[in-house]
Amino acid sequence: TIDRLADLEKVQVLGHGNGGTVYKVCNKRTSAVYALKVIKSDCDNIVRRQIFREMEILRRTDSPYVVKCHGIFEKPSGDIAIALEYMDAGTLDTVLNINGTFSEMLISNIARQVLNGLNYLHSHKIVHRDIKPSNLLVNQKMEVKIADFGVSKIMCRTLDPCDSYVGTCAYMSPERFDPDTYGANYNGYAGDIWSLGLTLLELFMGHFPFSPPGQKVDWATLMCAICFGDTPSLPENASPEFTDFINCCLQKDSIKRWTVLQLLSHPFVSGDPKS
Ligand code: ADP
Ligand code: MG
Repeated sequence: TIDRLADLEKVQVLGHGNGGTVYKVCNKRTSAVYALKVIKSDCDNIVRRQIFREMEILRRTDSPYVVKCHGIFEKPSGDIAIALEYMDAGTLDTVLNINGTFSEMLISNIARQVLNGLNYLHSHKIVHRDIKPSNLLVNQKMEVKIADFGVSKIMCRTLDPCDSYVGTCAYMSPERFDPDTYGANYNGYAGDIWSLGLTLLELFMGHFPFSPPGQKVDWATLMCAICFGDTPSLPENASPEFTDFINCCLQKDSIKRWTVLQLLSHPFVSGDPKS
C-alpha cells in the first residue's frame, strides 16, 4: 500500500487525457511502480464530474480484468491523484500502432479478457460507455484490463436521457443515437458490446472500421454510417468463428445483439469449437 503521496517519485509521463496527466511513478519505500493519474484543481466542471465518477467506480471494483486502484489522494491544493496498477505495455491503441495488426489468436485472447471485465462490470450494474483501444490497458504478459471510467454509469431503475451522448462517438452504438429504431428496451449494457465489436475489428484491420486507413471522417458522416450504413464486417480471410463473433457484437438492433454471457460461450473465445 501507499502511505503518503510524497513517497511517490515521478519517473516519466505516460499519457495525457482530457482531464489530466498520467505519470509512471515509483514508491521510494517499496520500489513498487504505479501509474498516477493527476487532475488539477483548476480543471473545468465536466472533468471534475468525470473524475469523481471514475473514483467512485474504482473504489467499487476488484477484478483481474479491471485496472486496480491503489489509492486516491487529494492534495491541499485541491489536485486529485489516483494511483493505478501500472500496465507496462500501454494501451491497445499504442500496441496497434507498433504492431500494425493483431492475429486472430491474439484477438481471441483479448476478447475473452475484455468480456470477463465487462461481465464483472455489467453484473455490478456498471456500464463503461467508452470501450475503445485507447481505454484498454495491456502489459507484457498480454493481460488486458479495462480502464478510464470517466463516462461510465452505475445503472439504477431510471435512465437519464440527457446522459446518452457521453463517450467517444466513433465507437457509439446505433441505439445511443437513435433509441427508437435500434433499442426497444435500451438499457445501456448492449452499447459496450457494440464498442467491443468495433474495437476487435479495428485490431484485425489495423484501422478504424468506419473510415478508410489513415483518414478521419467527421462526426455527422460517422453518425450516418453507424445508423444508416451497412454494419462493418471482417474481410474474407477471417475465420468463420471470428466473423460470426463480430456479427453477434455488431447487431444494429440492440435487442438482437448478444450479451456478455452469451458471447463468453461463443466458440471464438470459449475454446471449445461447436459444430
Ligand atoms: P483520460 O480519461 O484522460 O483519457 P486515461 O485513464 O484513458 O485518461 O489515461 C490516459 C492515458 O494514460 C492512457 O491512454 C494511457 O496511455 C496512460 N495510462 C493510463 N492509465 C495507465 C496505467 N494504469 N498504466 C499505464 N498507462 C496508463
Ligand atoms: Mg482515455
